[in-house]
This record gives sequence, structure tokens and C-alpha cells, in this order.
Amino acid sequence: MLLQNLREQVVEYGRYLYDAHLVGFADGNISARDPESNLVAVKPSGIPWPRIATKDVIVIDVDGNVVDGDLTPSSEVPMHTLFYRRRKDVNGVVHCHAPVATAWGLVNEPIPSIIVNQGLTQGAVKISPYTPPGTEALGEEAFKCMGETGSAIIIQSHGIIAVGRNLGHALHVAFAIEDAAKIAMYCRMIGGDMRPFTEEDYRRMAEGYALKKK
Ligand SMILES: [Zn+2]
Repeated sequence: MLLQNLREQVVEYGRYLYDAHLVGFADGNISARDPESNLVAVKPSGIPWPRIATKDVIVIDVDGNVVDGDLTPSSEVPMHTLFYRRRKDVNGVVHCHAPVATAWGLVNEPIPSIIVNQGLTQGAVKISPYTPPGTEALGEEAFKCMGETGSAIIIQSHGIIAVGRNLGHALHVAFAIEDAAKIAMYCRMIGGDMRPFTEEDYRRMAEGYALKKK
């Protein structure tokens, strides 16, 4: 089976997101690129996460053409492939509707830079302006917001995007976004000032979380 290992990863890591309630039913989408062939394994559209089998995962090229698979690929393929075409350092993309992070996007406040695992998000998580789902424009705005080296953004009124050097890394970033969103929310509920992390704090942590780390 073409890209069997990456197809299995899409199934396995999709379950992690589903079990952690970062996605519901069939929402959100994830993909993994094989750097050798430049082909991408991506979630099929509309299939509930717990029902996705390895054979259901679609293989596409970085222009979004289906190479292998019987089902329809995720509607957010234009966003995934835009990141793969423009970021050689990215081999995993996660998009989900993580509830607390998405709420920060709705009130149009970036998640502040406050806890150690935001080394993964590279500090505060910025908000990309709302664009309709499934469009090239969503990918363009997300890329503009994340930039050439970023790893995490919130799409206003929609959800989050996390990228990484592989799918596991992108998933780790996605979990870090939601964790930071929850902790910042709890801080607001408790009251008092949050201690912001400084550039120097992150610089000193960067070794352990570098995007290019093997
Ligand atoms: Zn979505």
C-alpha cells in the first residue's frame, strides 16, 4: 500500500485528537508528507474519526491531485498543500476546532505567551482573519499569519492550524495550543496578572523544541 506508514499515522494520530476532544465526529483534518516522494497522506472527507481505516486515508500530490484512494480527500486540502509547497521544513499539518483555543479566536485575542510548552507554539498564538472553510484564501491568510518559520495559529471563528517537521510534531504543537488556551483561560478566571514569557526565555528553551530537530 502506497505510504502505508503515513496512512497508519493519520489513523492513529486522528484518534488521539478525537479522544482528547480536540476534534468532534468528522471535523478537522490532518496530513503527513513523505519527504522522499513529496506525496501526502490526508484524512478522507466526512468520515467519523473512529471509523477511519488505513485504506480510507487518501494519498495526494502537493497540488491536491488524488494519487491513491477511493474516498474524497478533506475539504481543507488547499490549505494543507499550500503549506507543503511553501514550507520544506513542514511534513505534518493539523487542523482542528480545539474548543478553548477557538474561543480565544472568537474574542479576537491571541493566546498569550505564558507557559513552557509554548516553545512548541513559538510563544503567543496569533489569529488569522476569518476566511471561508475549504478555500485557497484560508490557506493564504493562514500562511501569511504563520509566516516562513511559525508553527501555530488560530483561524478566527473556525479553529487552529499546527504544523511540524512530521505529523507527530504537528500534533504536539496542536495539543500545546489547546493547553495554553486552557491555562490562560483559568488564569483569567482566577484573576491577577499572568507572567509573560520573554524572548530570552524562549531563546533558552529553543534547543529542545526546534522545528528542525531530528
Ligand atoms: Zn475546520
